Amino acid sequence: MSLKPARSGDPACSLCGEPAVIHQRHAGRHLCGTHLIADIEQRVSETIASRQQIVPGDCVTVALSGGKDSTALLLLLHRIFGSRKDIRLVAVTVDEGISGYREATIRSAEDLVKRLGVEHITVSFWEVFGDSLDTLLKGRETQACSICGILRKKALVVGAEQAGATKLATGHNLDDEAQSVLMNVLRGDLTRLVRDSGADSGGRFIPRIKPLMYIQEKEIATYLMVQGVWSDLPECPYAIHALRREVRSMLSAIEYQHPGTMLRLMENKKVVGTAFLGKTAGEPVGTCRECGDPCSGELCQLCQLRHSFLR
Ligand code: SF4
Ligand code: ZN
Repeated sequence: MSLKPARSGDPACSLCGEPAVIHQRHAGRHLCGTHLIADIEQRVSETIASRQQIVPGDCVTVALSGGKDSTALLLLLHRIFGSRKDIRLVAVTVDEGISGYREATIRSAEDLVKRLGVEHITVSFWEVFGDSLDTLLKGRETQACSICGILRKKALVVGAEQAGATKLATGHNLDDEAQSVLMNVLRGDLTRLVRDSGADSGGRFIPRIKPLMYIQEKEIATYLMVQGVWSDLPECPYAIHALRREVRSMLSAIEYQHPGTMLRLMENKKVVGTAFLGKTAGEPVGTCRECGDPCSGELCQLCQLRHSFLR
């Protein structure tokens, strides 16, 4: 993927008249590289401020896979908070052990933290679970993303605890969040639909924050390209099994025809949460009887997995 050189007749930036690099269909305008960068930085700062995602004294661990969303997240947080003495940023990379895929993204993560001078912790599935994802998934490839998601969440928490974090930031963007809303509807999972991962945990676990939750995937890709930090990375070999993949292409097509659909899905999540449960549901309030982690039933998802196959 690369940016095409501007030609006469190409759309101009709605703010300055320079050649545009993106059409923000939901906002009905075109933006040049400079105005796209400024727009994204401002919207991310507003999300962080309005939801109090980061406050003075925070140690924020940034989940850095090395892919485009997490790269953009670290760049943005470093630009917004990099010079602040009262906020510490630490990148955490999880090495699941996916051969032919993870090596390249880990290299990309290492290059970025070196360039920015950000502290970096790497946690592997080997250290935490005693094996690589490739080995753990043998014969269960069709469930790859559900299993990987549960394990990776735990590995990230291990990294965040090592860093002494008060917040755990992930690079989920608007497309991811809207896809999750739709997937939870398709699965009939109302509890998960209305769960707010940014809710106050009362100190029981490290709150997760999603500063890019209102930024579209194509805006993130263009943000990276105009700064020359885009690199084509391989796709995870297990992604072909994911329901998300189908939901993603369906939702992108609907968003193209009906701009603003993703934002409306996010609004619906809030409305459903308020209307049906009286308030937006927070994170699970129970405690796993085996490991003591917060969960909604008697056993957390990780302990359920342990019973089924982990050592
Ligand atoms: Fe894990 Fe699925 Fe993502 Fe691959 S695509 S890293 S298996 S969640
Ligand atoms: Zn447990």
